Order: sequence, then C-alpha cells, then structure tokens
Amino acid sequence: MAVSQPTILVTGGAGYIGSHVVKTLQRQGYGVLVLDNLVYGHRDVVENVLQADLVVGDICDRALLDRIFAIHDIAAVMHFAAYAYVGESIKDPVKYYRNNVTGTVNLLEAMVDADVKNLVFSSTCATYGVPSTVPITETLPQQPINPYGASKLMVERILADFDHAYDLKSVCFRYFNAAGADPDGQLGEDHTPETHLIPLVLQTALGSRESISIFGTDYPTADGTCIRDYIHVMDLAQAHILGIKHLLQGGQSEAFNLGNGNGFSVRQVIETAKQVTEKPIHVIEAERRPGDPPVLVGSHEKAKTLLGWRPQFSDLKEILSHAWVWHQKRHGVICPPVATEMTGGQRCPSSQVLVGR
Ligand code: UDP
Repeated sequence: MAVSQPTILVTGGAGYIGSHVVKTLQRQGYGVLVLDNLVYGHRDVVENVLQADLVVGDICDRALLDRIFAIHDIAAVMHFAAYAYVGESIKDPVKYYRNNVTGTVNLLEAMVDADVKNLVFSSTCATYGVPSTVPITETLPQQPINPYGASKLMVERILADFDHAYDLKSVCFRYFNAAGADPDGQLGEDHTPETHLIPLVLQTALGSRESISIFGTDYPTADGTCIRDYIHVMDLAQAHILGIKHLLQGGQSEAFNLGNGNGFSVRQVIETAKQVTEKPIHVIEAERRPGDPPVLVGSHEKAKTLLGWRPQFSDLKEILSHAWVWHQKRHGVICPPVATEMTGGQRCPSSQVLVGR
C-alpha cells in the first residue's frame, strides 16, 4: 500500500477498535506501526488481514518504547492499548490502574522524550458515571462509578497536565457503545471472554449460545431495560482520522463524545437482531448487572462542529447486519460482504453452508 502520509504508532492495534482504525489509516495513505501485547489482540488480524508492521510488546516496557521512537519516524500516537472489562476492573483494580494509567504515563513520558507531541486517546463514556441528564455533553461532570472509567478519566487529567507542562497535544475520544464490523467483512468484534450485548445476541442467533440474558428489566426506561448509544466502529475509525488531522494541523487538545445521539434499549437490540438474522433468539430476564447506568446517550455536536465528523451508520439494523456477516464468518458460514446501504446489501441466506471453524 502506497504511504503518502506520516506514520502513526497504534498501540492496541490488534484489538477491535484499533484494527478498524488501522485499516482506515492504511486506506488514507498513513504509515502504521502496531504495538500490541496480544493479551486480547489478534496477531493474525494485524499480520495477515491488515498486513501492518507489528511490534509485540507492552506499553509498560519503557526500553521498548524508546527503541520504537528511536528507530521509526513517528508523527503521532493513537493509544488503544487498555484493559476494558468493567466487571474485572471492580475485582482487580490494580490490573487496570497499572496498565491503563501507569502504562499510559510510561508511553507519554517516552513520547515527550522522543519529541512526539500528538496523541489520540481512547476514552469512554464510562468516565461520566451515571449522568444527570442525557444526551451527555462533554461539559457534564465526569464521575466514574468503576475503576475502568476512573482509569480512563485519570489519563484524561494526566493528558491535560502533559499539555500544560510539555506541550503534548491530545484528542480524547469518549466512545459510547462501539458496535458493528468492517462492511468488507474482513474485521469484526472478537473478544475472549465476550461480555458485550451485540456479539452475545448474535452468537445466540448462531446457536453457539443457548440464550441471552437481559440484565435488568426494572430500569426507569420505556421497556424497563437499559438504553445505550451504539456507534459503528467504522464511524469511530473515521473520527480518529479527523482527530489526527486536527492535531497534525496544530489543533488544541480537545475531548469529544463519539456516539450516534440515539438510544436503543436491550430489548430493541434483541428484536432488531431477530429481524436481521431471521433466527429465534432465546431470552432470559435476569438481575441487573452491577455498575450499569440506566441510560447512556451522547451528544456528538462538538465532534460535528469542530472536526466535521458525521456518523454514516446511524441505523441499528445496518450496524447489526455488518456484525452479523462477521459473526457468521467467524462461525464458518460463508457470507458475502454487506454493501454500505442496507437496501443494496446482500443478505446471507439462512440455508448458507457451514464449513466449520
Ligand atoms: N447486557 C445485557 N446482557 C448481556 C450483556 C449486556 O443485558 O449479556 C446489557 C448491559 O446491561 C447494558 C447493555 O446491554 O445495559 C450494553 O452492555 P455492553 O456490555 O454491551 O456494553 P456497556 O454498555 O457495558 O459498555
């Protein structure tokens, strides 16, 4: 692939969001170097699907970071490498503070020493905790209710200090619920363990899980289940391109919400999945999951105004369709990629041949 733009170091580029961003960077002519410890990331995706340069290593390894910055001409860093399981963060906060906070400080120090002063950081709507109003704007108080959200907020604050002291500029993207998959069908969401609603629902439709549990049906929402703002991973990826351009053009440090601005309940997600997959999905009504706010919906007006970001995939059906193609492929079902518009997209017939994993 012809490289016409600067090289970006992508930490965590073997993960779900990181890999989609790498693909988008490559398409736009950027050089990419992936740094990933492969604890949750996928070597095969970086080496074979993306064919990007991969350094296997950890952001906590300062000597490694120094070598990377010494050898490569890195213009900016996109920092995805983090642990991101809310439940695990409550049980094992040390893991989260050590990696997400200490590891990031390590990275930032190495950047400053190497005079690399531009960073795009993966933050989260979990930094807001239980919001007092929705849609959430960037100016609402950030009061996380779990160590994962706290670790991300700490980094946001550290970044503000690094800007002030060392002129390191950053764009913090506070993601709402990343969802969907690369419309070409090459990349998708593949976590082990899987805890997220959409992959679990689709795995249930595929028959690899018996049922999906709804965590709480007594929330103060129209149908009693939690409402989330699902944002297509390719829309997130496009925002990262705009974020890096903003920084490379000398823009100031900023934080942006990345969501669609629309909320869907757990029941609505399951009903839409039934339509998309044309499969039965067995549902169990279960207890609330600790730490889940009832409603998280983000305003993306700031990203629209300052970055010119426009999400392309606001239709939940389309988001689920892309994810469905990916999950079938993972499961061994041969399925053509979906066209970008649902109307023109090919659907995978329910009688498709299974070829095994
Ligand atoms: N959820 C659910 N059953 C599951 C997984 C998730 O009901 O098996 C709910 C969860 O309580 C939340 C929503 O689905 O309200 C989205 O959860 P997910 O873990 O996908 O993302 P989160 O909002 O925690 O980042």
